Amino acid sequence: MLDPLPILSKVFGFPAFRGVQADVVERVLAGERTLAVMPTGAGKSLCYQLPSVMLEGTCVVVSPLIALMHDQLRAATAVGIRAATLTSVDENRAETIARLKAGDLDLLYVAPERASGTHFRDLLMQTKLSLFAIDEAHCVSEWGHDFRPDYRLLGPLMEAFPEVPRLALTATADAHTRADIAKQLGIPTDGMIVSGFDRPNIRYSISARDTIARQIADLIAANPGPGIVYAQTRAATEKLAEQLARTGRPTRAYHAGLDPAIRARNQADFVASEDMVICATVAFGMGIDKPDVRFVAHAGLPKSIEAYYQETGRAGRDGDPSVAHLFWGAEDFARARQRIGEVEPERQAGERTRLAALGALVETGGCRRRILLKHFGENPTEDCGNCDNCLGSSDAVDATETARKFLSA
Ligand code: ADP
Ligand code: MG
Repeated sequence: MLDPLPILSKVFGFPAFRGVQADVVERVLAGERTLAVMPTGAGKSLCYQLPSVMLEGTCVVVSPLIALMHDQLRAATAVGIRAATLTSVDENRAETIARLKAGDLDLLYVAPERASGTHFRDLLMQTKLSLFAIDEAHCVSEWGHDFRPDYRLLGPLMEAFPEVPRLALTATADAHTRADIAKQLGIPTDGMIVSGFDRPNIRYSISARDTIARQIADLIAANPGPGIVYAQTRAATEKLAEQLARTGRPTRAYHAGLDPAIRARNQADFVASEDMVICATVAFGMGIDKPDVRFVAHAGLPKSIEAYYQETGRAGRDGDPSVAHLFWGAEDFARARQRIGEVEPERQAGERTRLAALGALVETGGCRRRILLKHFGENPTEDCGNCDNCLGSSDAVDATETARKFLSA
């Protein structure tokens, strides 16, 4: 087999693989169907980008967001990979298709709704394929936190090309979801590579919310680098951006209701900045590759532990010390319970379980990281020493009382 290391340094400029990357790449180069579960920031993209350069033919990458694809396209092209996207907003589709047929592409990024159509299948029949890479593969599972029905059609699509290797990638999947992903995408259960979920450089803190703008201003003052503040509503992101600007730090708002040009500019400003604070809804973040985010604050309860892990995981991708601080109020739980009452009855039990898991994380007087890692099936033997409770912050004690009251109400 070809040695990937020279390509790793020559094309990507990295001296070594990180974590399980080497194992994943080795399996892919050997043509073995694989599901890689690796935390955010672990470097999942490299696991298909590198083989796409080494293998003959085109690697088809399925990815759920157009913005994410375009970021990846820019990064891949910048290191000299022959790559293109095929999405509804691309104007050069004819050119891309011609390049695909001519064998002139290492990587082709497509959205799941396009990938599952018969046109696309016919196109692939005329193409030499090296690999199918399914990014954010938890979207295929109803057990995952971000189910996309179009992902269900990827299994059947790949069945039409049984000899082409498959690589599914995700950051957040418990054992149940992993098994479901493998089944849906035709990956054997012994084809899973699961790397640790721990992000030791992130310090987790959780405390009760009182005057949120002041609390976050304090957090900002203690953390001079770039940060993300997640708020529950669009209005709240704009209000916070305005209030926090008084700290003297540059701030921006980000939510799906902003004019697309302004939204794109705010994101670009943030990515380029060394001290900006972006106040955003959860629409912000997926696929944004900013390694030096120093803090992530939640102004309210996230949707689930998976969502919390993914959102806080945007801090500290460069491995340097970073902070994740969640501020919550009893009313967050009340609202969540109300929302659960409004979903289809068959989903309510699952949603209640999710909320209870969040409650346990908020409520604990013990190590936060243990609870997080246990949620993902790990069993750490020691407390982390790098969360508010391990460090003996007093805030957490009040929070515990309030949470208990609310969870039992
Ligand atoms: P993920 O999709 O797992 O969240 P990405 O693929 O976006 O992670 O990669 C995160 C960051 O890690 C990127 O900046 C990428 O360039 C970097 N990276 C990936 N592999 C390596 C490596 N072997 N050595 C150093 N940096 C790496
Ligand atoms: Mg990724």
